[in-house]
Amino acid sequence: MQSTIKQKIPNTTIIVGTGYGDEGKGKVIDVLSGEFDVVCRGQGGANAGHTFTYKGQEVNTHQLPSGITNKDKLNVMGHGMFLDPVNLVQEITTVRGLGIEISPQNLAISNTAHVVLPKHKFLDSLRENSTAAQGSTKSGISFVASDKVLRVGLRSHEFAKSIDELTAIAYDGLLQTAAESNVKIDDTTDKLFKSQASEFATAAKEIEPYLTNTKILVRETLASGKNILLEGAQAFGLDINHGKYPYVTSSETTSVGVASGVGLNHQQIGKVIGVVKAIPSKVGGGPFVTKIADDKIAELYRGNVKSVDGEFGKTTKRPRDIGYMDLVLLKEAVAINGIDEIALTKADVLNKEPYTNIATAYSIDGKETTTLPSSAEELSRAEPIYHKMPTGGDIKGVTKFENLNQEIQNIIEFIEDFVGVPVTIIGTGPAGADTIVR
Ligand code: GDP
Repeated sequence: MQSTIKQKIPNTTIIVGTGYGDEGKGKVIDVLSGEFDVVCRGQGGANAGHTFTYKGQEVNTHQLPSGITNKDKLNVMGHGMFLDPVNLVQEITTVRGLGIEISPQNLAISNTAHVVLPKHKFLDSLRENSTAAQGSTKSGISFVASDKVLRVGLRSHEFAKSIDELTAIAYDGLLQTAAESNVKIDDTTDKLFKSQASEFATAAKEIEPYLTNTKILVRETLASGKNILLEGAQAFGLDINHGKYPYVTSSETTSVGVASGVGLNHQQIGKVIGVVKAIPSKVGGGPFVTKIADDKIAELYRGNVKSVDGEFGKTTKRPRDIGYMDLVLLKEAVAINGIDEIALTKADVLNKEPYTNIATAYSIDGKETTTLPSSAEELSRAEPIYHKMPTGGDIKGVTKFENLNQEIQNIIEFIEDFVGVPVTIIGTGPAGADTIVR
C-alpha cells in the first residue's frame, strides 16, 4: 500500500525588514516576485508603504501586496492585516490608473481581517494632535489593534451587512468616540462624520466581493505545488514583542508573525530573507544607536527629496534620520526571524564617503556588549562601537557580484562572517534591474 505520509517541501519565502523599516523591501519583493505564483501580506495595514517602479513610474502601495503589478499573480491579504477599506479602494483606483487590472481573480482578502473604522482614524488624529503624540501615520492602526485585543472589533465578513447598517456602525462609532473624547459635535463635525461613515460603507461594499477564507486558499495553493512569497511590513526593530517598546508598531513583524497572519504553520515556512540597508534610516521616536550626528554627512547619504531613493517620509516628506549599519541589531533580527539569507540594499550609496562605519558592539555605561538590550531605555544609553571599512569606487547599476569592487566585497564578507548567513541579494541602485542576485 502506498504511504499517505508526505514529505513537506515548503515553497514559501518570507521577506522581512531587519531594522526600523524602509529597508527597501518593496524593491527586493518586486525583484523576486516574478518567481512566485502568489504574493501575500500577513500583518500591518495602511501604515506600511512600499515604493517600486512600474514601467518607469513610481508606485506606492500601502495595503496591496506588490505582486499586484503582475497580472498573472494571485495577491492575498491575510487575516493578520488591519484592513482599511477606504484607503484600499483609493489604492485600487490609483493602481488601475496605471493600467493594471484588479479583480477577485488576482486579489483575495481575508474575511476575518479586523477593519479600520473612521473612529480609529479619528482617535489617532486626536492623539497625534495632543501631547501624547507617537508620530503615527494617523491611519488608526493602534486603535483598530486595541479593539481587536479588547474583542470589540469589526471583522471583514461583516461587510455582508447592508450599506445602511455599515453606515450606522461607522457613524455611531464616531459619535461615541467624540462623546468619550469630549469633542463637541457641531453641524460641521456632524456633516463630516456622516460623510466619513458613508464613504466607509460604500468602500466596504466595494471590497466585499474580494473576501474569502484566505487561510484555505493559501493552504490549497501550496498543496497544489505553487509557491508563495510573503512580504513583511515594517521591521524587526518595530515588532510589538521584540522591538523597542513603546516605539513599536501594532503587529508582529517577524517571519512567524507574517506566516501566522496568513495561516501558515511553522513547517510551511521555507526561506526567510532579511533586508538591511547599507546606510539605514529611521523615522519616529525611540533610540537609533548608529544615528549619524554630523548633519553634513547625514545629508550626503540622505540624498535628494525629489529622487526616488531620497530618505524622506513618503507622504510627509520629512527627512529621515540616517545611520550606519548596526550588526548588533541585525544579528538579533537574524536569530529571532530565523533569517536564512540577507538582502543588502543601497550598497551603491556607501561610496558617498571613502569609509563607512559598521557597529559590531555597544558600550553601555562603560561596559561593552554584543547583545541587543531588551528595553528602549537601556538602548538609549548605548554608544556604538564601530569597525571602519573603506568603500571603494562607484558600483551603481552593477549586476554581477564579481564586478563589485574589492572594498564592497569585503564589507559583504564582513557582514556574512558576523551574522553567520550569506548576503545573496545586493542592491546597486533604485531600479529593480540594479540588483545582484547570487
Ligand atoms: P520598504 O518600505 O522597505 O519597501 O522601503 P522603501 O519603499 O522606503 O524603499 C526605500 C527606497 O529605497 C525606495 O525608494 C527604493 O527605490 C530605494 N532602493 C531600494 N533598493 C535600493 C538600492 O539598492 N539602491 C538605491 N539607491 N535605492 C534603493
